Amino acid sequence: MAMVNAANMPDVNGYFGEYGGSFVPPQLQVILDEITAEYLKTKDDPEFQKEMAYYQKHYVGRPSPVFFCERLTAKIGGAKIYLKREDLNHTGAHKINHCIGEALLAKRLGKTKIIAETGAGQHGVALATVAALLGLECEIHMGEVDIAKEHPNVVRMQILGATVVPVTHGLKTLKEAVDSAFEAYLKDPVTQLYAIGSVVGPHPFPMMVRDFQQIIGEEAKVQFEELTGTLPDNIVACVGGGSNAMGLFTAFLNDESVAIYGVEPAGHGVEIAGKHAATITKGTPGMIHGFKCYMLQDENGEPSPVHSVASGLDYPGVGPQHSYLHDLKRVNYTHIDDTDAIDAFFELSRSEGIIPAIESSHAVAFAMKLAKELPSDQTILVNLSGRGDKDIDFVVENFGKKYGI
Ligand SMILES: *Cc1c(COP(=O)(O)O)cnc(C)c1O
Repeated sequence: MAMVNAANMPDVNGYFGEYGGSFVPPQLQVILDEITAEYLKTKDDPEFQKEMAYYQKHYVGRPSPVFFCERLTAKIGGAKIYLKREDLNHTGAHKINHCIGEALLAKRLGKTKIIAETGAGQHGVALATVAALLGLECEIHMGEVDIAKEHPNVVRMQILGATVVPVTHGLKTLKEAVDSAFEAYLKDPVTQLYAIGSVVGPHPFPMMVRDFQQIIGEEAKVQFEELTGTLPDNIVACVGGGSNAMGLFTAFLNDESVAIYGVEPAGHGVEIAGKHAATITKGTPGMIHGFKCYMLQDENGEPSPVHSVASGLDYPGVGPQHSYLHDLKRVNYTHIDDTDAIDAFFELSRSEGIIPAIESSHAVAFAMKLAKELPSDQTILVNLSGRGDKDIDFVVENFGKKYGI
């Protein structure tokens, strides 16, 4: 198995192997170069690190715990399942980790406004939250389909003082929201910072967002050793753009004994084009939103329509580092369909009293399958990327009957 020194990635031009880079208009490249330079200077600045640590502890509530799922494990029989509880962060998901970093960087760069897209609304809420915390303006672009599905998050953003811009073209979901936010950003990249919501987009975002998220794995490694005396045998995370997954994986990439699984959304099934968002499983290398990665695309290189029951996983591209880790075979990319994800949503709720985000339910569903195949002395650590409160109305309306609601 190829071992990867994550600290050496990406190269100076933002490449992870052949993936990543930056393909944007020249006037934007100038701005991205400024952001890169400022970030590289900032990340090792003890003042910045102190600021980050302060907000992580006193605002987000870190460290988030690692929890052993005793009843779920007993029910399934097989490997022991543990959760890294990113759902317990302020705002209910992992995204606040990189939003604080991006907002602090925006302030250092003298920007007054942060702008972004959102799928499930989690990135929008996290960004609107830190904008309020740090006194920045905030504009969030969101597909109309997602606005209807994730209504509580829309209201949250508005309460927090952000402007929510509905996106009405195409499939009206995440991909179109990215297009729209990008367009708005290009109109004024000097006073605004585009705070990308995952490990995607042009350099330096895949690197920066990963760095801000890697605290998940760093904490989990120490906590898991405290609990069990050793490293987990398997670690699992869902992969949309791939930020919560890189957040967990990075600390374990050089630990050969740890098997790593990234779980993509299979929607209605990976064999039906347009009805899934399993980008690495079914995609090919291409270019989307200013960077190279595995991508679901048509003959002309245009992004294909995608579907997942989880709005936050509904994206036809994926982080460049994931694309590279797939080629290296360091991470095993697999997939879970809508039905199994919803089953896991109810299973975790009813076995452990933890309602997971539908996105995170994909990772839980895969961990349940894997646990069954493994002996009881094996362990699986799942990144529970977010809580499911935002999803309850949608889940009950569409799937409640099967579960007696
Ligand atoms: C946004 C989101 C995801 C997907 O994004 P990644 O960048 O792939 O982590 C997963 N889980 C939750 C709870 C989210 O809000």
